[in-house]
Amino acid sequence: MEIIRVENLHKKFTLKSKILEIPTGLVHAVNGVDFSIDKGKTLGLVGESGSGKSTTGRLLLRLLQPTEGRVYLEGRDISEIKNREFRKIRKDIQMVFQNPYAVLDYKMTIEDILTQPLHIHKIVHPLEYSKEVERLLRIVGLSKKDRKKFPHEFSGGQRQRIGIARALSTKPKFVVCDEPVSALDVSVQSQIINLLKELQEEFHLSYLFIAHGLNVIKHVSDQVAVMYLGKIVEKGDVEAIFQRPKHPYTIALMSASPIPDPEAKRERTHLKKEIPSALEIPSGCSFHNRCPKKMDICERVTPKLIGEGDYQVACHLVEGVASHGSSA
Ligand code: SF4
Repeated sequence: MEIIRVENLHKKFTLKSKILEIPTGLVHAVNGVDFSIDKGKTLGLVGESGSGKSTTGRLLLRLLQPTEGRVYLEGRDISEIKNREFRKIRKDIQMVFQNPYAVLDYKMTIEDILTQPLHIHKIVHPLEYSKEVERLLRIVGLSKKDRKKFPHEFSGGQRQRIGIARALSTKPKFVVCDEPVSALDVSVQSQIINLLKELQEEFHLSYLFIAHGLNVIKHVSDQVAVMYLGKIVEKGDVEAIFQRPKHPYTIALMSASPIPDPEAKRERTHLKKEIPSALEIPSGCSFHNRCPKKMDICERVTPKLIGEGDYQVACHLVEGVASHGSSA
């Protein structure tokens, strides 16, 4: 059963000159994105910086307003409901941020930080606040003694645990995890990923997990969507994407990610140039100026996202043969 469905989501930003505020350009950061996530499952959204993945996450929480498109939470269209109405369901959708320090008020104790959402969303009776804060600290692996401390007294990994406790304080159904481990030491990353997986199991949570590292995505996801310049270029079950990637961009991302086994060999695909600016999206297939498999048609015609079942890919190389098992 679906927890969230996104249809034809768009976000355009108008750039303006600093002094006169005259429009100087248009950035199409999210360009017709569709996906759905089942209850208790994780969709991993992966791509380089500038691919639009974090903007997509923020659109779901209304931290940004979509330019176009629909978002359904448990079948209910929440795209155009008024802000007052949205505040009532805001507790059902939460976010774990890349840098928890930026969202944890450094002047507040951990107890106050965790009590605030309990109070705003009336999660428990005020007499239960203290007990609930202790429970939240316990489920993320912290001690009740930590209640009286301030954010700066914790390590990066512990602060992320507090960020997770804050996100879970409203008993959400759906959590956007926006690069939750990319600012942490490698040794701490796996602890936080395991914690998120344990909490998902225990509370039947559904995640949109945003990351630029494929190794992390592989570890946490049931489904994977690969984004490039505002569009999903390939999506499917985690096994399909990792065992039989078809889109040249997915293949290049994979070849660039480190392999845990130093003995294992993998052919490397070096991408030409950096990802272009979203202000100057190339014509046709937006990946054509970096693609090692580029054909004449690629500059002129935008490939459609097509496929069978849950698997889809947008590439002229595989159009018409996007079924599993066929090679790109
Ligand atoms: Fe490469 Fe063409 Fe496929 Fe785009 S459509 S990924 S340029 S082969």
